[in-house]
Amino acid sequence: MALMSGTELAKEIVADAGRRAAAFEAAAGRKPCLATVLVGEDPASVTYVRMKRNRCRQAGIESRHVPLPATTTTAGLVRVIGELSADPGVDGILLQHPVPAGIDERAAFEAIAPGKDVDGVTMHSFAAMSFGLPGFESCTPGGIMRLLDAYEVGIEGRHAVVIGRSPILGKPVAMLLLARHATVTVCHSRTADLPSIVRSADLVVAAVGRPEFVRGSWIKPGAVVVDAGYNPGNVGDVAFAEAAERASLITPVPGGVGPTTIAVLLAQTVTAAESTMD
Ligand code: NAP
Repeated sequence: MALMSGTELAKEIVADAGRRAAAFEAAAGRKPCLATVLVGEDPASVTYVRMKRNRCRQAGIESRHVPLPATTTTAGLVRVIGELSADPGVDGILLQHPVPAGIDERAAFEAIAPGKDVDGVTMHSFAAMSFGLPGFESCTPGGIMRLLDAYEVGIEGRHAVVIGRSPILGKPVAMLLLARHATVTVCHSRTADLPSIVRSADLVVAAVGRPEFVRGSWIKPGAVVVDAGYNPGNVGDVAFAEAAERASLITPVPGGVGPTTIAVLLAQTVTAAESTMD
């Protein structure tokens, strides 16, 4: 068994984004700019936004923070995001989610201009991912694909089992794997006999949100295991010690998928800025 280190890969992605951000600044006379929109004060969301803004700063990317009260309406949020979409000084827009109940999150996401959707959450970006066309990737799925490529994991013709079908993780990672010619099975809470499906997988992506849900006995010997889960106490969705006994490659939690997510966000922000120079 070998570990797939997201920490190391993320450093490389961020260093590259930093070099490209500096070149952009030299050419454009301004830094690439990511607008972060946070509705309400959910502590986890506050922490995530702070981390993303700190990483931006370290990579030479400006971050413009837009905090909004929890009482914000869908129309109000759509208006703010529409203004950021039209602002030539903003290259990328991140709406931290989940947004408070009562706001139509999809409507808010769709107010993000496709060229600024550096978090890869719009229908436009999902379609591009599904068709294998250029576009912004959903960041966690994008990070997973970069990890698989960095460790030279064969994807074409392999059976990939994705556990979870959320719009930001399970579904888009399934589409990215399909675009790379994997045979993809997407499982969810109504899937019958999940363990036997996982046992047939060459590649398992766990995106369930339940600590140590995927057991070692479900893993086919030699399979590659990607644990996207991040549960309280730094615990993934895979029972790591058990799964590591059978997997050929496995991501740790923490230090696996997590760090690559922010790295992809930064890289895509710089790409969005660069595209304004075309
Ligand atoms: P989510 O929206 O809650 O989706 C969870 C998915 O798991 C759903 O599709 C659900 O099925 C499925 N599921 C739940 N119970 C199941 C069961 N017993 N058997 C099979 N499938 C089951 O979660 P998410 O946002 O995709 O996040 C998933 C995990 O990834 C969480 O641990 C989260 O913290 C982590 N995450 C990490 C990052 C990162 O940067 N590393 C980013 C985002 C998320 P249904 O659709 O049928 O309900």
